[in-house]
Amino acid sequence: MTRMQKITVKCENCGHVFSGIAYASINTWMDPKLTHEFLKEGLFLTCPKCGRKYILKGKVMISARNGMKMVENRLDFDVKKEILEEIGVFDQKGRIIGFFSESEKSTTNDLKKLHPPPK
Ligand SMILES: [Zn+2]
Repeated sequence: MTRMQKITVKCENCGHVFSGIAYASINTWMDPKLTHEFLKEGLFLTCPKCGRKYILKGKVMISARNGMKMVENRLDFDVKKEILEEIGVFDQKGRIIGFFSESEKSTTNDLKKLHPPPK
């Protein structure tokens, strides 16, 4: 499961106090979208008042099909990608393997074609 934790932040820019979700762990195939966000710039919170982004500090437990790793949220894209590759987050084409990935969808459809449901 993707684990999350509610945290409260005071915006340095406008002083607005808001709470948001900080993820302690990500299950990459259940949450490919979040995995992508983590890879791209790191998990972040956005101040609802002024829109300032706060990239979260600390490590996130990333679990994938081949294992799990604690990965620092603020690492560079390339470094994170390498770690995530090790634990099998991506398919051969470099896409994040999702629970409902395109390839799995088409496999399901092909099976239906082969075995049409009885009328
Ligand atoms: Zn703000």
